[in-house]
Amino acid sequence: MDLLIRNAALRGRPGRWMIAAEDGLISAVTPEDRDAPTAATVLDADGHLVTEPFTDGHLHLCKVHTLDLAGPSALADYTGGSMGAAMTAIESAAAVKADQSAAAVRARARAALTESVRHGVRRVQAFADVDPTAGLTGVTALLELKEEFRSLVDIQVVAFPQDGLLRSPGAEELVEEAIRVGADVVGGIPWIEWTDADAAEHVRRMVALAHRYGKRVAMLVDDAGDPSLRTTEMLATALLEHGMYGRGTAQHARAMSLYPQPYLRRLIGLCRAAGLGFVSDPHTGPLHLPVFTLADAGIPVALGQDDIEDAYYPFGRHNMLEVAFLAAHLLDARTDPELDRLYDMITVTAARVLGVPAPETVPGAPADLVVLQGRTIRQALTAHAPPSHVVIGGRVAASTTTRTEFH
Ligand SMILES: [Zn+2]
Repeated sequence: MDLLIRNAALRGRPGRWMIAAEDGLISAVTPEDRDAPTAATVLDADGHLVTEPFTDGHLHLCKVHTLDLAGPSALADYTGGSMGAAMTAIESAAAVKADQSAAAVRARARAALTESVRHGVRRVQAFADVDPTAGLTGVTALLELKEEFRSLVDIQVVAFPQDGLLRSPGAEELVEEAIRVGADVVGGIPWIEWTDADAAEHVRRMVALAHRYGKRVAMLVDDAGDPSLRTTEMLATALLEHGMYGRGTAQHARAMSLYPQPYLRRLIGLCRAAGLGFVSDPHTGPLHLPVFTLADAGIPVALGQDDIEDAYYPFGRHNMLEVAFLAAHLLDARTDPELDRLYDMITVTAARVLGVPAPETVPGAPADLVVLQGRTIRQALTAHAPPSHVVIGGRVAASTTTRTEFH
């Protein structure tokens, strides 16, 4: 046996447990027993919670650690008031891309991915800007890192036309080129186009491209304080037209919090029919998706880090427990059942949103696990500390200890 975790608390299963791993897979999950088998590596969880690792549904990985390059004005525009100047923020943040090299993007993104390993983030949907300014610099850098981190972090690279499609001539061809060179997901940001007709065309072209190449779609929709925005509806409609049930995610969709109830109810029905999943990041803006309303309606919702120290958000450590901790406050989630739902949104449901089977702690599943610093979800969220151990493929990939001396 390669690895044995002893004295583990498991979600929804009382008592203490042992988890054994062999050849990269979980080989047994059994009640704690003094006569435990031996293993090459034995970890004592000491009653702490052991769960599946984290999934980040949405991260602008090509922009991490660029805040100092962008300057503070974009930050003020994006997060100010009701996000009325969200478009101005995107335009001023674009200046960063003009003269950065793939090596510079790679170095900054590598630092963020190292934090992913520390914090047990096993999977990330990573957006790379693709536009006439950035060219394929971001995509190239992230595809190289996808290879470099292959055994540690599954990176789904999204070819993302950040500056629009119809208002940014050449972007469409670049997205297709990005898909040809290996990007996994077709991106989009239709709400940024000048007219609703252009927004609808943006959605149609990108969903058609994804359909042609057999790829999934991930779009930033309705990301401003404007209740007249309708691009979530356009995305769900296009997925249905192409028979792409469950093949798309909507990111942000903040305007949904401003919609009149009758329209919101219709839209939720449409999204459910299209199998559209959502990713929300309530900490990066004053408006956010009505997360629990959608989840109550049976729509899969994940949480995302969104940004790490860039022109849209000044903090971020790629710590999904921190993301859920912040979401708990912003979504007014306090009870254990509510915290449990948030935890699903950074683990099992988050994987489903990205089109990946929900990870499980059962024999035969990949031996990917985190040993948390807490005996319950609430304690783990309170600490939002790195896991004491991150296990990937039955091997300990990272261990963290914290110790304070009082004098
Ligand atoms: Zn975003």
